[in-house]
Amino acid sequence: MIRCSIVALLAAHVYAGGAVYDRCDSLGPEDKANGKSSGWAHNDGSFCRGAQQSPIDLCGATTIDAGNEDSQVKLSLTNMAIKSTMQLSTDGQVYISPPTTTTYTADTPGAYDTDATGATLAGATWRDGIGVKVGRQAAGTIETTWKLAQAHFHWGRDGHQDEGSEHYIEGVQHPLEVHFVHVNTKYADITAALRSGNEDALLVLGQFFKVSDAAPMSATLTEINSKLAGVGALAAGIVQLSIAPYGLIDQSDGFYTYAGSLTTPTCNEAVTWVVMNKVSTITSAALDRFHDKSMDTHGHKAAYGNYRPLQALGDRTVYFVAPRDNVGNPITSTYKGMGCHKHVREPHFQCAPLTTPEHVIKMQDMQISLQQAMTCCAGNTVA
Ligand SMILES: [Zn+2]
Repeated sequence: MIRCSIVALLAAHVYAGGAVYDRCDSLGPEDKANGKSSGWAHNDGSFCRGAQQSPIDLCGATTIDAGNEDSQVKLSLTNMAIKSTMQLSTDGQVYISPPTTTTYTADTPGAYDTDATGATLAGATWRDGIGVKVGRQAAGTIETTWKLAQAHFHWGRDGHQDEGSEHYIEGVQHPLEVHFVHVNTKYADITAALRSGNEDALLVLGQFFKVSDAAPMSATLTEINSKLAGVGALAAGIVQLSIAPYGLIDQSDGFYTYAGSLTTPTCNEAVTWVVMNKVSTITSAALDRFHDKSMDTHGHKAAYGNYRPLQALGDRTVYFVAPRDNVGNPITSTYKGMGCHKHVREPHFQCAPLTTPEHVIKMQDMQISLQQAMTCCAGNTVA
């Protein structure tokens, strides 16, 4: 069997939800630039062509009036600073997950595997102390509690620091975006939450990063970066991290929230999105570590990074929740509401046959012959 097939099989095994981001592949996301309408939207059970899809350009936001108690959206991250043992894995994305074994033992007494009264939960498989409480806009649904399932990153093509995030802010894309996926604690797990078909199944926190070699990275990102140096593009939960996971999140400039979807198939419209307004920083060397982990499900270097193209806002409302000063009043200088750009410039990708000289060079870099590539990865690729 040829190399790329083996890797593809491994990748499919490690992460069943792995998505083909190749915009020139018939299994990839819709390729607007080339007028294609295939791939994700046509998979069985797919919601990818729905009316409440993600990501979107976060623009034209309605700033929520903090004076009206019913309309407040509150975000409360619990135990932000407490370190937890997490597992790092890669398969074309980079994942950070709470351990999944039932033999998991705490390294911070009292902080793990307890219910609200502090009693130890038998067989608990992750730390209940890490989670998020969010009050939705509708009265009566205040303080839904969400448990962290995993976090993962989205980035763009090698050498492109102007693309990579899934969401945009007022027309601007950033080179990296992390997503913290949470399950509503009224459901047993992600599978049960999605099976419910309810919009309240998941909550995803998003945080952007821009490149700065002068600004310090957070301790959490520094630790992730150092561990990424030692793993390849396909590492199945073998690397342990001791990090404060929410050290990646900066809520100091408020956040956007809207109703959306998963950004990979099957694109379930079951996500409350909460995306931070403050853009954090990453060094160019650290961003390269993420680019190094690019791999599509054919097992070769991903030609497009791993972000989904922008989706239409439709008739949804994007809310902006302003940060508060130290007496609890909203900081009005952060208010949003700029209109959306008519034509947000997404990177343009031109699909071309495999036989272009540029592609032959890429295949040589991967030490895969053109013939192998055409057998394994039939189709077109980027020029
Ligand atoms: Zn994501």
